[in-house]
Amino acid sequence: VLFFLLLMSCLAAYILHKYLNKNTLPEESLRRAIARNEIVPFYQPIVNGKAGTLRGVEVLARWKHPQAGYISPASFIPLAEKSGLIVPLTQSLMAQVAANMNLIASKLPEGFHVGINYSASHICTPTFVEECLKYKDSFTRHDLNLVIELTEREPLDINDHLVQTLNRLHENGFAIALDDFGTGYSGLSYLYDLHIDYIKIDQSFVGRVNAHEDSTRILDSVLDLARKLSISIVAEGVETQEQLDYLNRNDITFLQGYYFYKPVPFTELIKILLSKPNV
Ligand code: C2E
Ligand code: CA
Ligand code: CA
Ligand code: CA
Repeated sequence: VLFFLLLMSCLAAYILHKYLNKNTLPEESLRRAIARNEIVPFYQPIVNGKAGTLRGVEVLARWKHPQAGYISPASFIPLAEKSGLIVPLTQSLMAQVAANMNLIASKLPEGFHVGINYSASHICTPTFVEECLKYKDSFTRHDLNLVIELTEREPLDINDHLVQTLNRLHENGFAIALDDFGTGYSGLSYLYDLHIDYIKIDQSFVGRVNAHEDSTRILDSVLDLARKLSISIVAEGVETQEQLDYLNRNDITFLQGYYFYKPVPFTELIKILLSKPNV
């Protein structure tokens, strides 16, 4: 039996390896996966640093592959973005997320954050505002804080249309979060044009807290800047007590990371919500 299991797991690993190592994941199988609802939302809880209470979740896509098991978004989001499939993929997640949240509506703390990652190419489609308003209407709880996480794998072209779209959604009660702040292309210029509610400090910064004096200093100044602009901060990738101490010392309200919770499927999220006091 052991040998058989070993053989099977080798085989599975081989198939996955072959499958994922092709530079281009077959677009067609991703398209089918979306249609079959195999792209599912995982939820990573976001906690309040001081009180330790649950303040919300970030939705992270997983491909629930019938053979390969859960596939991480790093292996299919780039393809989705390149092929335009990111639009139906995200729409499918939005529908599943609203349905999930409605099932546990009575268990959600007031003002609970529900953040979804959106690619700029999707935000720039003509029907994006409409889609978001419909999504908002589909929640039975109207006090939820629906967050649009703006991600940028490509240099973001902050054009007038993108700015207008996000600002319109902001006026309609959505919160805008600038993801991965401090890395890659995200620059200060965004802060002029967009109504930003949250800055998500990238885990590469959080991970270096106290390890390097310089990165702590860079983080110090980012936090200072955010405070001056009255933007709330979410620290990502909190893994250690040491990092937590630094973030608490600096009054960072929202924390996210393996120290608290990993991204979990909906059934696990229910258990977490039921085991926690609601305030
Ligand atoms: P992200 O938006 O920066 O999401 C945070 C990533 O950090 C997630 O990886 C999460 O699992 C991971 N993470 C959270 N806490 C910790 C920690 O304490 N330590 C470490 N080492 N990692 C932590 P994940 O789920 O693999 O997602 C990777 C990226 O894929 C996301 O980065 C996001 O940019 C993209 N992504 C995921 N889902 C979607 C989606 O539905 N749409 C779009 N457009 N992008 C998505
Ligand atoms: Ca994100
Ligand atoms: Ca991030
Ligand atoms: Ca990231």
